[in-house]
Order: sequence, then C-alpha cells, then structure tokens
Amino acid sequence: MKDLLIVGQGLAGSVLALKAWQRGLEFMVSSDPARPSWTRIAAGLFNPVTGRRFVKTWMADTLFEEIYQFYPWAESVLGDGLYHPRPIYRVFTSRQQRLEFLNKVDQEPMGRFTPQVFEKGYLPETIHHPEGGLFIPGGGWVDLPRFVQEAAMWLKSHGRILDHLVTPDEVIWHDDHAVWNGQSWRKVIFAEGARADQNRLFAHLPFVLTKGEVLTLKVPNLELNGVVSRGKFILPVGNDLIKVGSTYSWDDTDPVPTEEARKDLVTGFEEICRLPYEIVHHQVGIRPTVKDRRPFIGMHSEFSSACIFNGLGTKGVSLAPYWADRALDHLFDGKPLDKEVDIRRFGEN
Ligand SMILES: Cc1cc2nc3c(=O)[nH]c(=O)nc-3n(C[C@H](O)[C@H](O)[C@H](O)COP(=O)(O)OP(=O)(O)OC[C@H]3O[C@@H](n4cnc5c(N)ncnc54)[C@H](O)[C@@H]3O)c2cc1C
Repeated sequence: MKDLLIVGQGLAGSVLALKAWQRGLEFMVSSDPARPSWTRIAAGLFNPVTGRRFVKTWMADTLFEEIYQFYPWAESVLGDGLYHPRPIYRVFTSRQQRLEFLNKVDQEPMGRFTPQVFEKGYLPETIHHPEGGLFIPGGGWVDLPRFVQEAAMWLKSHGRILDHLVTPDEVIWHDDHAVWNGQSWRKVIFAEGARADQNRLFAHLPFVLTKGEVLTLKVPNLELNGVVSRGKFILPVGNDLIKVGSTYSWDDTDPVPTEEARKDLVTGFEEICRLPYEIVHHQVGIRPTVKDRRPFIGMHSEFSSACIFNGLGTKGVSLAPYWADRALDHLFDGKPLDKEVDIRRFGEN
C-alpha cells in the first residue's frame, strides 16, 4: 500500500508533494492536464502587513518563519530563481492615510514586520509618492508559474506524477484506506483549488470563489528593486517586465479577461508610475477563497482516507508551506488540527 495520492498539482499539491518527499512518504501526484492550475497566473507576493488598516496578517510570525525556510529549500531542489525576498513599498494615497498609519503603529506593535515611514523622494522619480509611504520588511514574491512548472518536471523525473483526473467516484473508499486504479492508498488528499466546489465529498464547504485579473507590462527603464503598492501593486519580474494586480470579483467567476479589469489595472499602474508601457499579457484566474478566510484541511467524516487541503485563497504563498506540514502531521501522525483550519468547523460531510 502506498501512503498518499495527492490530487492536483497547483501550489497546494506541489507544496504537499515536496513536504511528503521531505518525510520519506510513498506518494504520487495526479494532475489533470486538461484543467488549468490558476497558480500559473498568480503574482506570488507574500506581505506581512496588508489591508486598508495596515494589519499584520494572520499568524504572520509563524507562517513567515516557514516561508523563509521552505522556499529557499525548494529552490535547492527545483532550481534557482523561484524565491525573491524584496522590500515592499506601500505608498500613501493621502495625508489622511499617513496620519491613520502613524496613530495605529503606536498602538499595535508589529515586531520584526514594523513598517518604516519614508518621505517623498525616497523612491525613484518615476514612482508617484507625494505623501511618502511605508517600507514593509519581511516580504517578497515567489515565481509561482515557474514553481509549479519546475515541480511538475521534478515529479516527472522521479516517476511521481500521473497525468490523470481523479474523481471521488472512481475511488473505492474503505474505512482505513482507498483503492484507485488498482492501487491501495492510506490517504487520498484533494488539492483541487477552485475546482473543489465540484467534489461531492466536500460539497458542504463554503467556498466563495474570487476571480482575479493581472496584467504584464513592458516598462523599460523602471529602476525599482521592490514591490510598490497603492491599491494595486506593481511587481518587477525581470527583463523590463512588471506584473500589475490584482482585481477581485465575486459575482463574475467566468475565467475570461474583462475590459473593465484591464482599465482598472491600467489606471492603478498609471497612478503609481509615470513611464510609458506596453501591455504584454492580460491573464485571469480563480482563487479558492473561503467564507472565513482560513484554509480547509481535514478528513471526510465517513471515509477517513479521503482528505482535503484547499482554501488557500488570496495568500497561498504564505499559507501553503506551514499548513501542508500540519496537514501531514494530522494525517500520518494523528496530531490534532487547529480548529481554525479544520473542516469540521463547518459540520460533518
Ligand atoms: C490573479 C491572482 C493573483 C494572485 N496573487 C497572489 C499573490 O500575490 N500571493 C499569493 O499568495 N496568492 C495569490 N493568489 C492566490 C493563489 O494563486 C492561490 O492561493 C493558489 O494558487 C491556490 O493553489 P491551488 O493549488 O489550491 O489551486 P490551483 O493552482 O488551481 O491548482 C489546482 C490543481 O488541481 C488540478 N485538479 C483539480 N481537480 C482535479 C482532479 N479531480 N484530478 C486531477 N487534478 C485536478 C487542476 O488541474 C490544478 O492543476 C492569486 C490568485 C489569482 C487568481
């Protein structure tokens, strides 16, 4: 009997696979080439202080410690150029916003992630920042399209990938194991991203899928060493290319680029940067977001071999490494799951 069948090879499935490898588990990954992984269009930012109210993100101390360990290690396995620790510059939109931040920072210490205020003139002239902004330490980005592509090649080279759709109906579920394709598995873990809403075993989970769109622009001469955010973000990714993101749409989850989002992103870019640009790509993806913004981890209440690792939402880069470890601790070592991420918070299947 093999230990683990991972269904899906986006960010969630790839991180699970690398963690399973670290533990010496006997695993395989099934990936349906006909279904897109939305990880392939994501910007891959990790940012410890976010939101209109400058909040330290949930569990930042723990999750970011794991980011700093995991992605450099993943690079050593998959190849260089995946992990990019970078400063994040959050530009103030108004004097009022600057005052709001200064009031807040006195009240809520943020430890190693405490942002530093900078003044007009700190960033290159081509970046519009008349009210200055914040330098946020501890952030950066992971090249997610490359990460999943390199992970696929690595899995293939180790004979760990099956180019196959796996649906719950093709699996024979027993109390303590499952059989798929004539092979027995101790656990089958579904890491299907936004497709999970079609999985009948976990149909009760309240996904609130979010469509997002991103532009890639060619902007010669943008000399910027970090990410700039001002409502939208601009992320230099090399070769004069920058990503501009992202939009959020809950009503329209049709994965088709829209003119409205294109205009919104172009405006967002022009509010930050004054250089001429050319649009190279306009991409769209669906985030597996969850009502309470916490991951979905756990086992089916009737078939304990059927498991889920999903709900990474808008913060897959920071959530995946730490929670993949906790998921494997739970499935293979019987360690209890944190109630905040356990799917049982939404009742039994
Ligand atoms: C526009 C946009 C910008 C984003 N920016 C960021 C960001 O800056 N930082 C950040 O942290 N996150 C960001 N995200 C979110 C991040 O992309 C997600 O959290 C993450 O990609 C989710 O990964 P996943 O593996 O769960 O899903 P996916 O990447 O969609 O992967 C699921 C995989 O499962 C496969 N699959 C599904 N069902 C089956 C089946 N039955 N059998 C076999 N295979 C199956 C699919 O083919 C797919 O390959 C962004 C998302 C979008 C859309």
